Amino acid sequence: MTPPSQPPPTTCFSCTRLNASTFRIVEDDQWSENPFIYAKLCAAAIVIIDTGCGGAARDPAVQLTSLREFLETYPVDDNGGKPLNPGGSKAYEVVCTHCHYDHIGGIEGITETQHPSSIWASANIKSFILDDLPTSSLCRYVGMKTPSYSVSHWAQDGQVMRHTSASAGTSHDLDGLVLYHAPGHTPDSLAIWDPHERFLFVGDTLYEWAPILFPSGAGDLSSYSSTIFKLRDLIRGWNSTTVDEDEDHDSAQTGSATRLSRVRMACGHVTSAVDAQEFVLEVDKFFSQVTRGLIEGQDAGEQRGVPLVKYERHDGRISFIGPKALFNASLVGQCPV
Ligand SMILES: [Zn+2]
Repeated sequence: MTPPSQPPPTTCFSCTRLNASTFRIVEDDQWSENPFIYAKLCAAAIVIIDTGCGGAARDPAVQLTSLREFLETYPVDDNGGKPLNPGGSKAYEVVCTHCHYDHIGGIEGITETQHPSSIWASANIKSFILDDLPTSSLCRYVGMKTPSYSVSHWAQDGQVMRHTSASAGTSHDLDGLVLYHAPGHTPDSLAIWDPHERFLFVGDTLYEWAPILFPSGAGDLSSYSSTIFKLRDLIRGWNSTTVDEDEDHDSAQTGSATRLSRVRMACGHVTSAVDAQEFVLEVDKFFSQVTRGLIEGQDAGEQRGVPLVKYERHDGRISFIGPKALFNASLVGQCPV
């Protein structure tokens, strides 16, 4: 007689399929960040884009709070009821979109596996990660123990990811994933382009319906503006080579040729499959209005003694928040009165 199967444990993670190779895991954490963690299943390894808050669950009674254990044991409905990495059979390639606590919290657990795992982070201003991670990560301000980890690959702008096995002396393709520097929210912000699925992962550089943050001492409006231009041009290029923009947004077979889908964007919070070109143009437009002094800022209180200002579009879809002094400095000489 077959014993009745055990129900899965309660957990702070929920997992749904994002596209053919990638899953989105949302963590229900005690800081209500609800970070998005992405797991892309490649033949050679599993690519993990960010690792959440480290299992600091909002509900302390949940049973499964280890991201690694979730990946290796938890049955996922959208994956045919199987875990994403059964028994930890594949190595992990972890990409940090940036080093904030709600993106690196689970990194120690992920890399302590049976296979040597790699950690990728931006090579842009390495000191942001290396010199004072408790401050850069904001861990010191939220009461989280700062994760300890070493970056294996300092990613150059435009670097293609590969999985290398030192023991076997082999190097493997990871579906052509490319990393781009995207400073602005933080100096170490990265975007990850998946040409296979036509998804661009952007971390906290932009998302909808919640304020995009410029943390005191880390956010930079000029870098952000350059990054938005850069992403806009990249996305336009990817879309223009493959899609008639007057046609619908879905991929389809046209005769013997495959018409590729428009690029979609997956963010670190809230937004995970928006039309990338449409959204980045909207953010570009509103950010430009803000920095030209055309939008009235709202007092947003103080954070650690720093007065904050918020700029919000009329419908609430796009908003920015950061130190008043940061925005005021960018407005000098630009206001007509
Ligand atoms: Zn962040």
